[in-house]
Amino acid sequence: MKDSMASASQVNLLKQKLHLAKAALTELDEEQNEKLQTLLQFIGHLSLACKGQNVELDNKLAKLRHLLTKFESVEEALPELVDIEQLLKKQYNHVMVQLEDSRVSLSRVIRQIQRIDSAPEKIKKEINYFKKDLGKPFHSFWDYIPKVEQLVSFYEEILEDQLRHGEAIKISPKHRQLAHELSQMISEVEFRKHQRDQVLTIKDRLSNDIEVDSLIEAYQTILTLLLENISQEKSASQEFLCALNDSLTVVREVVTDSCNNSQRSFQLKKQINHELYSRVDNVGEAIINIDDIHNLKSQVTEQLASIRTSLGRKEALEERELILLKKSMDILKKEVNELGKEAADYKERLFEQQKINLLDSLTQLPNRAALEERMEQEFRHFQRHKQPLWVAVADIDHFKNINDSFGHSTGDKTLQVIAMALKNSLRDTEFVARYGGEEFVLLIPEVNATDIEQLLNRVREKVKSIPFKFKNQRITVTVSIGAAQILENELINETFDRADAALYRAKHESRDRVIIDV
Ligand code: GH3
Ligand code: MG
Ligand code: MG
Repeated sequence: MKDSMASASQVNLLKQKLHLAKAALTELDEEQNEKLQTLLQFIGHLSLACKGQNVELDNKLAKLRHLLTKFESVEEALPELVDIEQLLKKQYNHVMVQLEDSRVSLSRVIRQIQRIDSAPEKIKKEINYFKKDLGKPFHSFWDYIPKVEQLVSFYEEILEDQLRHGEAIKISPKHRQLAHELSQMISEVEFRKHQRDQVLTIKDRLSNDIEVDSLIEAYQTILTLLLENISQEKSASQEFLCALNDSLTVVREVVTDSCNNSQRSFQLKKQINHELYSRVDNVGEAIINIDDIHNLKSQVTEQLASIRTSLGRKEALEERELILLKKSMDILKKEVNELGKEAADYKERLFEQQKINLLDSLTQLPNRAALEERMEQEFRHFQRHKQPLWVAVADIDHFKNINDSFGHSTGDKTLQVIAMALKNSLRDTEFVARYGGEEFVLLIPEVNATDIEQLLNRVREKVKSIPFKFKNQRITVTVSIGAAQILENELINETFDRADAALYRAKHESRDRVIIDV
């Protein structure tokens, strides 16, 4: 009995232990599940963090997340894990290549920034440090992003600095072309004496590498000078017209006064004449009708006294008339004299202007407009007299080289010296004009075909012998010349074209020579 009771209590004890062990196991299981759940959730989150790098990887990770939501399918997820691991390795390598590419591009950008000369020194230094730092490889995108931010901040600072200091706009080929055109225009326009120094300074500035601001300023100054000239010209004409108008008003007033005076004098004279006639008639009648000599005598004496009075009045009237006329004449004479002076002054100014308009300001040779006038004149002369007439076109050889090597102002001086040499090598009846740039046109009358080549070669040699010395360097400047003689039934412009074509041939046949079109 005792034994059976002891066995029963042992069984109970065992039962209790079993129960406790079961409970502990369940608790452990639950704990494990919880940990697994946390792990699965963590994997889920991790996979989400990897999202967006590669579509294939994204799909695989999405599938993995789905499988990991239930314990039963965790087994199924295992083969997926192998694929994902491979994809991740591939992706890692890909990212590392990308990071290296990004580092190389950043280095390229930084070299570009280093070329901005105007960047503040402080930033230049920082850029240098940054460039050194870029030599180290990137390990992740987190190394890359701050570098990009830093780069952007460099750009920002440089831009801000440039905006603050208003950096000059860089000159472009279009601006250079504008500067060249303005310089050409200035050469063709004649400025007043007091403006010339200012214009020469502008021209000098235009021939060097000019900044956009100075170019605009040059345009503005030239426009102002031109406007000043126009308004002066206008006011000179206006002054003259006003003077003319004033004089005409005075003349009109004087003439009207004279007319009125004459009218009044005429009436008075008519009246006096009438009185005189009636007195004479009275005397006549008295002689016929009065028999008594004494009576007649007194009548005639009375009438004669009246006639004398009338004649005296008439004489006074005529005298007054004469005085008025003289006064009017004096006024008119004065006005005409003054107007004459104004007109002479104006004519002189017009003549000066005309002369200026026909002269090239750089070389002081006749300009293209003057050439055209002279060509017409010579052409008319040729048509009347049929004397030989030659047109020659001379062009300086390789003139651009002079500008390029020694500057435009040396080029300008060269043009002046050559222009003078050309002028001095011709006779008074011959003519030379600056046609434009480094081209000159010569009109040579009365020279026959056998002599022209020799004459033009003398001109060519004269230019060649000028002892130019630029920057201590002895330079020989040569010209090529093409010439043609005007033909019967030819227009002078056609002769010019033939001369120009001959010049073209001279240029192609080694330059420094004369070619006559035959
Ligand atoms: P080529 O022997 O073929 O005539 O050569 P080139 O260099 O003389 O001729 P090109 O037509 O190529 O150049 C002419 C140059 O003349 C271009 C321009 O710079 C220069 N020029 C034109 N007008 C002026 C001027 O008024 N002053 C200066 N300094 N240069 C001028
Ligand atoms: Mg030339
Ligand atoms: Mg030329």
